[in-house]
Amino acid sequence: MMGVWPPLETDLTRIAALARAHHDDTQAFVHYVDLVWERERRPDAALDSLVETIAAEVSAHIDCTRCANCCRHLTVGLTPADVPPLARALRLSPPDVVARYVDKKAGAREGEWGVLCCSPCPFLQGDLCSLYPARPQSCRDYPAFTPDFRWLMPEIVKGMGLCPIIYNVIERLKVRLGW
Ligand code: SF4
Ligand code: SF4
Repeated sequence: MMGVWPPLETDLTRIAALARAHHDDTQAFVHYVDLVWERERRPDAALDSLVETIAAEVSAHIDCTRCANCCRHLTVGLTPADVPPLARALRLSPPDVVARYVDKKAGAREGEWGVLCCSPCPFLQGDLCSLYPARPQSCRDYPAFTPDFRWLMPEIVKGMGLCPIIYNVIERLKVRLGW
């Protein structure tokens, strides 16, 4: 039984309020999924596949260029590989990019090589990334649901109030799993 999909939410204020209101329910759901998969020895790959399918459906209806909420609020983790593309896009030398934009101390606190210096992101112009083709890998990957969604789930649900894709995927997953 598939259940009826909840309406797709795209309004950021409403999503923040709904995520707060659903907080306890979501935490209980996280434990439920973990328990069921453990007890019934369901393959994690099946959960990954289901979540990827739902994420593809949701993402097709959400326009990140009208949102940019992650660029305004999240810390961007960096690796050394992110520096050369940024340097080319900014017409700076790689050491200058590191000096101006990479916070290594904050990165160490987050277990990262570095993080982008400021929040909101200094490269955000309006709701658009001014250097989109050169954006760091973590920006490309966000929001990442897999591999191993079951393991990542407690961390992913923390983004429900911020990211419309995460919010809608988790609410649809609740329905799909008969919660
Ligand atoms: S680099 Fe671009 S995509 Fe990444 S956070 Fe900044 S504005 Fe957003
Ligand atoms: S990834 Fe989420 S928070 Fe970021 S722009 Fe897209 S919908 Fe908005």
